[in-house]
Formats: sequence, structure tokens, C-alpha cells
Amino acid sequence: MPVRQWDPASKAKVVLEGLQGKPEKAVCKRHNIKLAQYRRWRKEFLAKIASSSVSARRPSRQGDERSKALRVAQDLIEVLPIPVFFKARDGKHLGANKAWEAYFGVRRDSFIGKTVQELFSHAPDVAAKHRAVDEELWRNPGTRSYELQVPVRDGSVRHTLNYKATFNGADGKVAGLIGTIIDITERKRAEQRQAIEHRVTRLLSECETVAGAMPGVLAAFCESLGWACGARWSMDPKIGAFGCEEAWSVDDPRIAAFLAASRQSNYQPGHAGFIRRVLGTGQPIWIVDVSADDSFLRGAQAAKAGLRSAFALPIRLGDEVLGAMEFFHRERRLPDEWLLETGVTIGNQIGHFMARVQAERELREGEARFRSLTALSSDWYWEQDEQLRLTSMSSRFVERTGIDPAPYIGLKRWEQPALNLTESDWERHRAQLERHEPFFDFEIERPGPDGTSVWLSLSGEAVFDEGRRFRGYRGVGTDITDRKRAQGVLRAAYDELARSNAELQQFAYVASHDLQEPLRMIGSYTQLLERRYGDRLDQDAREFMGFIVDGATRMKQLIEDLLAYSRVGTRGKEMRPVQAQAVLDKALVNLRAGVEQSAAAVTHDSLPEVNADDTQLAQLLQNLVANAIKFRKKNEAPRIHVGVEDAGGEWRFSVADNGIGIEPQYFERIFLMFQRLHTQDEYPGTGIGLAICRKVVERHRGRIWVESAYGEGSTFHFTLPKIQKGET
Ligand code: ADP
Repeated sequence: MPVRQWDPASKAKVVLEGLQGKPEKAVCKRHNIKLAQYRRWRKEFLAKIASSSVSARRPSRQGDERSKALRVAQDLIEVLPIPVFFKARDGKHLGANKAWEAYFGVRRDSFIGKTVQELFSHAPDVAAKHRAVDEELWRNPGTRSYELQVPVRDGSVRHTLNYKATFNGADGKVAGLIGTIIDITERKRAEQRQAIEHRVTRLLSECETVAGAMPGVLAAFCESLGWACGARWSMDPKIGAFGCEEAWSVDDPRIAAFLAASRQSNYQPGHAGFIRRVLGTGQPIWIVDVSADDSFLRGAQAAKAGLRSAFALPIRLGDEVLGAMEFFHRERRLPDEWLLETGVTIGNQIGHFMARVQAERELREGEARFRSLTALSSDWYWEQDEQLRLTSMSSRFVERTGIDPAPYIGLKRWEQPALNLTESDWERHRAQLERHEPFFDFEIERPGPDGTSVWLSLSGEAVFDEGRRFRGYRGVGTDITDRKRAQGVLRAAYDELARSNAELQQFAYVASHDLQEPLRMIGSYTQLLERRYGDRLDQDAREFMGFIVDGATRMKQLIEDLLAYSRVGTRGKEMRPVQAQAVLDKALVNLRAGVEQSAAAVTHDSLPEVNADDTQLAQLLQNLVANAIKFRKKNEAPRIHVGVEDAGGEWRFSVADNGIGIEPQYFERIFLMFQRLHTQDEYPGTGIGLAICRKVVERHRGRIWVESAYGEGSTFHFTLPKIQKGET
């Protein structure tokens, strides 16, 4: 690239660009010059103006070349957008340009002859610093540049770059200086903001908790910007209460006491204060004077601690307000947009940090929970990839089953032998997985380590990623070998029981049936004996014959009852809806002789329709009513009531009498076969009636029991399930 030749006018233009406020680096880049080069030009330019050695306000009117050049310079200064001023050696102002007038808000005419002390009467430090540089220049003439923070009358602070150069009088001695002021507040602030954000970012990345990071964050903010103290407020969104958490302050016991008091209080919802508003609206708030603002509830305490201005801003995560930060200044400060913006940016940084800490904590807790679950559970955990190949199996698997999982890893479930599943079982399972459906208690019998088999029960669900893409399956497994074995044993025992029961029933039936024949023979031949040889027998022999007949009759009754009992199980009819009322009527017809003979009064409720074997139900009711008649009191006619009650899913029948009653210790026994409480002479019977009743009720899926007060009567209860809808 050819090197450009710079004439004095173009150089002046470049310097002016910088003096008008454009960042120096940008100017250099635009014109492809070095920063040092630019600075040299600026120095030459300012020195040239200075060397005109006159007040800008009073240009000489002499018509020579020199004064013409001077006028050009003076005109140039006048239109410069940066403040320029001239001072005499005694420090008194000689003049200034328009930009100076605007910058300080002071009329230049009225200021001529005054000093910098008067310009900065509100900031003696600043005046002193300017004076010191001037003194230095009088001693060592030349140029100086320095940065200074200047408080403006409204309370804000400006950053300035000051440039001064001496000029000589006609006598060749230093006559005064020319100065410019370049406002670099924006640049400074950008740097400051970057520095604060940087410091906060570092703090947040080094800390694990918000509480650990906050004091440093608050300090970074306050120290960089000159604020006295700051605090973080947290909110409990569930109850709306909030509280002051961490705080930082300059070393001042009064401020420390103020912050301590803030932290001790518990702020309930309903306080309409400063922080409450920030939390509620998510917007920052600025208070110029805390002692004069009613909405600031801690105003009096803050003022006592020497605090004046305050601002608070939200800590946010997107639209969600997670808390707030507040800062206090010891001096009066007007609202500063830049400061608020910087604070809000930091608030957002903290918001993200809090969300990250929270997410990490939840993740850790979730993992800990999962670890306890897997450590404490007897189940194991497994995962399959999207190809349905097993990818992991927790160690509990081998502990429980003794099976080495290694050969299973990388394979699909159906690629390993299962003793209980057929091709079509696997087909169904595979189809379910391909539909990504969850599955529960899928039972597999795998060959075990010692030649036995192991039963597994697996449940699983499909896993999807954030994009709803299928990623595989995960689930748990349980060793159900013991349960399966127990079930097997139980089934075998049940089968055995059912078989022997059937055998027994058959035996009882055959026995009682076949016994009837020889019994009939005994009966017939005894009668024949009596008829033919009766007159030849003596008294004793006739009595013995009587016993034989008696015994045979009883035996006949026993056998008949036994037969009836065995028939309940073997000869039962299908259950079908029957009117219990009709069944009772039939039973009472059979009992008519007994009822009449005993003068019994039998009453009943209106009985419902039930699902039953009508013959057996008749037998049941007949047995119970017959017993009620048989076990009556000697001197009292039996009163019998057949009742029914709706007991939800079933009917509860009852047969109540006013008979002799039963002692409680016999309540269970009387339902067993051949169990009687009386002798034949007192009350005849075989002791099979109630056993038959129980068998009938149980066949109908009901229960039977007795309630009784000895000597006062008994009530036999039995239940029958109700007819379900659609069962008719
Ligand atoms: P059995 O009537 O042939 O003796 P059951 O099996 O019908 O045999 O009755 C067993 C026993 O229960 C009876 O011997 C009797 O002691 C008692 N029992 C049955 N029903 C009643 C009743 N309604 N009142 C008093 N005791 C009864």
C-alpha cells in the first residue's frame, strides 16, 4: 500500500475527529495511522494553537500574515466541539470557546479573570489537582495530559481527559497555557462495566453457592463505583415473604448495624416497601434521598447510618424474579441509567447462576436419590439402547440371580434363551417395544448358574431425548424365583388336595351307597327272624333284637345323611337365579308335620332372588328350621323367624329361634361332622345337618355362623353373594 502523504490541514482534520469525541483507536484505524503518530499530531496541533499566545476572545486586528493565521486558529477553536480555555501564568482565565461555555454551564465573559478554584468550588479536590498540574507546567513548560473524575453539580461523576500546553509571550517567556477537556465518561464506563462483569463472572465461576459468591459480587459493584454498601434479598415465592441475605459494606460500624438490622427482620407479604416493589414489578427503583421517601420503610435507620441515595434492582431469570439487590450511597445521587443497566446485567448474571446452582443441586439430589434407591432396593436397574440392545445392568442383578450379565450386554432380550417363552410370546413383546410402550412384570425364566433356572420379572419404559427422539428403554428387574417356586409348590399341593378330596367324596358316596345294601339285609333278616321265631324267643332275646333294629335304623339314617353330605359336592346343580321365597315355602311344606306337632310359629321377611342351586338352598333352610323346631324349650312353643338383610355386595340371611340356645364354646364345633351336644335320648340326630349346611353355603361362596345366648335362643346367619348385573 502506498504511504499516504499528510499535509498539515488533513492532519488537523484527523486530530479534530478525535477531539470531537471519537475513540482514538477508531480514528487511527480509519486513517490507517499509529496511535503514537496520532498523539504526536494532536500535540503539534494544540501546541500550534497555544503558540498563537493570545486570548481567544480578543483577536488582534492587525492585518499582517501572522494575525491572519491567528484568526484562522481562533475561529477553529471557537467551532471546536471540545471545551478549550486559556489561562495566564497567574492562573486567571483569559478566555474559552463556546463548547467550554456549554460544558460548564458558565458564561465565559463573566468568568474571565477567575480561577479554577471558583470553577470547582463544589469539588476542592478537583481544583487542587488542576492547580498542581498548572504549577508543574510553570516549572517545566511543555505539555501534560491527565485523567480526572469530576463531580458534576447534579451529583453524577464525569471522567475527563485533560490536555494542557504552555505558550510563550512576545518576550519568549512562558505566558500561560491552553487547555482542552475531553469527556471520556462513556469509554470509562464501558471499561468499568466490563471490569465489574468480569470480576462477577470470575466470582460466580469460583463459588458453588449464591451465599458464597454474593459478598464478593456486592463488593465488586460498590468498590468499583464508589457506593457504600449493598445487600441481596431473596424471596420465598410460595408464601411471598422475603428476607435480606448477604451484605457488604465499607468499614463503618453504623452501616454495618443498619445492614444487620435489615437482615434480622422477617418481611412478610403485604409490606409495600422498596424491595417489595422491585420483587413485585421486576423493575429497578431509585431513591435520591432515603430519609425523604415514604415508600422506603427503613428510611430513618438508613439516614442514621449516614446513607443518602439508594437503588434496588431485580435478580431475574427470564421473566421470573428470583430476588433483588440494593445499594446505598453516602451522598445524594440522581438516577443514573447507566448504573441501573449495569446492575440489571449483573442481576441477570446472578439469576443464571442461581438457576444453575439450583439445577445442579436438583441433579445431585436426584442422583443421590437414585443411588439410595438402587442401593437399598432388591431390584436391579437396566438400560437398552435405541436398537433395544442391553447397555447396562446394575450390580444387584448378579448379586440377586448369580447370573453374569456380561454375555447379555449388547444383545437383545430375545437373543438369549428363555425357558418359559415361545416365539410368539417374544413377538408380542418385541412389537410392544417397537411401539415404545411401557411394560410391566414381564416374566422370563433364564437358565441359572448351577443348572437350575432363575425367574426374572422386568418392567420398563421408553426413553426419549429433548427432541422427542426415541433413545431406548430403561427399567427395573426383580428376581421372582422364590415366588415362582412357592407358587409351584402351592399349585402342586392344591392339585393334590383337589385330587384326594375328589377321591374322598367318591369314597364316601360309594361307601354309603354300598353300605345301604348289607344294612337293608340286616334289617330284613332281623324282621324275618322276629316274625318266624318271635314266639320262641325269650324276653332278653327280644330286647336284643330291638337293639339290632334300632342300631340298623340309626345306621340307615347316618348313611343317608352321609350320602346327602357327599352329594353336596358331587351332585350339585348349576347355580341360577331362584326366588329364595319359593324355596323357603317348599322347605316349610316338607316340615309341615314337625311344625304342626310342635305348634311352631314360623315367620319370615320377604326374601330376594338369589343365584343358587335351589335343591341345596331348600336343604339348607330346611335343616336350619328343623333344628330350630327340634332344639325348642320343653315348655314353650317354638317361634322361628327367617330374615334377610342387604349387606352391600351380599345378602345376609338369618334363622332365629327361641330355643335352648348354644354355649359360646360350641359355636364353631357344631358345624363339624358328627359333632353333637346332646344324647340320642334328649334330642335324636346324626350331627351331620349343620356340616351339610356349611358345605352348601361354602359352595355358594358364602359364610355361615351362629349367634346365641344360652337358654334364650339361637340365630344362624349365612350369606349369599348378590346376583351381579348381567348374571341373570
Ligand atoms: P343334629 O341336629 O343331627 O344333632 P346338627 O349338625 O344339625 O346335628 O346340629 C349339631 C348340634 O348343634 C346339635 O346337636 C345341637 O346341639 C346344636 N344345634 C343345632 N341347631 C340348634 C338350635 N337351633 N338350637 C340349639 N342348638 C342347636
